Amino acid sequence: RHVIRLRGIRKLYQMGQQQVAALDGIDLDIDKGEFAALMGPSGSGKSTLMNILGCLDRPTFGSYELEGREVAHLSDDELAVMRNRHIGFVFQNFNLLSRISSVDNVALPLIYAGVGARERRERAMHFLEAVGLADRAEHMPNELSGGQRQRVAIARALVNEPEIIMADEPTGNLDTKSTKEIMEIFQKMHGKGRTIILVTHEPEIAVCANRQLLVRDGVITRDEGRGVVLDVV
Ligand code: ADP
Ligand code: ADP
Repeated sequence: RHVIRLRGIRKLYQMGQQQVAALDGIDLDIDKGEFAALMGPSGSGKSTLMNILGCLDRPTFGSYELEGREVAHLSDDELAVMRNRHIGFVFQNFNLLSRISSVDNVALPLIYAGVGARERRERAMHFLEAVGLADRAEHMPNELSGGQRQRVAIARALVNEPEIIMADEPTGNLDTKSTKEIMEIFQKMHGKGRTIILVTHEPEIAVCANRQLLVRDGVITRDEGRGVVLDVV
């Protein structure tokens, strides 16, 4: 069953007198448990598409159903609730708060969800353990390597137990060894049934997914599913 369904999605930007179509007719279904890699050259529309999928922005035309609900029918507040409940975000630059510890960074989404302090800490610790960083709970982000910071950020994305993880170039700032560790975590999440959408420039990363989507000039020009055997831990 699909968690995401896009039909005829267009996103237009006004550039002076001209209208530019950043997305020019996207039809896409993503099923529960799929691991999709989104590829394409700079300026092809990947960020625009991710912003719409992540409910950070709305399409100009077309239908987006997230978990069976038409996003166009939701108010901005309802959209924010959908985003917080259903989607965990991972960024290229980690986006951790530098003045609080790893465990407090991981627990942040739970503050917004109204979870009490003790349970926040327990749940944050659980997900720090899941990414292999329980022993770094009290470290500040600047005391961690890039790969460790991204693992903290992944734990933060998971802590609300969202249905969908969206990651924009999550290994873009990491060395080969850390990249491998991060991709193993994504594969493990996929093995546990999470739906993952990942933007990457690198084919070696894209093959870790079970589906490869190519975006060009605002449309999806290739959609390949590959029977990659995942090394599920
Ligand atoms: P990438 O996703 O490749 O890192 P960006 O998303 O930062 O790149 O930008 C892609 C293109 O979109 C760039 O050519 C940039 O100039 C253009 N762009 C981004 N935001 C705006 C904007 N607000 N107005 C006009 N052009 C924009
Ligand atoms: P990518 O992430 O693949 O690099 P983007 O989604 O950032 O591509 O951009 C797709 C197209 O939309 C580009 O031509 C870009 O210049 C344009 N664009 C993106 N954001 C804006 C914006 N806010 N205003 C005007 N044009 C934009």
